[in-house]
Amino acid sequence: MTHVLIVEDEQRLRKDLVDFLALCGFTAEGIATAEALHRVLDDHEPPDVIILDVGLPDGNGFDLAREVREKHRCGIIMLTALGDSDDRIRGFESGADIYLVKHSTLREIEAVIRSLLRRTGEHVDLADSTGDKWVLDSRHWTLTAPNQRSLKLTATEFALVSALCKHGGGICEREKLAETIARPRTHFDNRHLDAVVSRLRRKIGEQTDLTVPIKVVYGVGYTFTAPSAVE
Ligand code: CA
Repeated sequence: MTHVLIVEDEQRLRKDLVDFLALCGFTAEGIATAEALHRVLDDHEPPDVIILDVGLPDGNGFDLAREVREKHRCGIIMLTALGDSDDRIRGFESGADIYLVKHSTLREIEAVIRSLLRRTGEHVDLADSTGDKWVLDSRHWTLTAPNQRSLKLTATEFALVSALCKHGGGICEREKLAETIARPRTHFDNRHLDAVVSRLRRKIGEQTDLTVPIKVVYGVGYTFTAPSAVE
């Protein structure tokens, strides 16, 4: 999956970006400081794309872009509240690929990332790596359909889908599933399970436009009927 790292100290914006990009099918991670960026780049594989705020509490986005560019091959999108052309030029000179002002919509940001990935040719097509599988991402609790539409799951939904996928097309018994999604010490019941499944089926259907691969096996339990992978 395409990994996008967001370096932004405004907590609200960072969270919005992470949530939105996860829904778009990227793995998205947010950090708040230049120091954290250095740490991530030292310790981990570089992300495919970095969204970089110009004004960070402990560093300047232009300098950071230049540093990143010297050592790593990843797309850099500069994000700033400033919109003037001097800044824009500075952004490009520092090695940023694209410069965006902060009032850009989330959709614009997604479009920019996709066009950047096409341009840099670094884009590993999700379809290529996952085939026709439904992919459950256990780090970000997202479920990605074979058509690459993605949805964010709640903790309960994640537990449920995870249990179903791990059965690889086999039937999960109702009692086991009810137990899986029950909060500790609460009394589990079948109606709760059915409600969770029905909400989840509706959500998957609406957000992927595909036939929902969760089927009921009457009197026994549920099964996930499509190929799937848990990552
Ligand atoms: Ca800032």
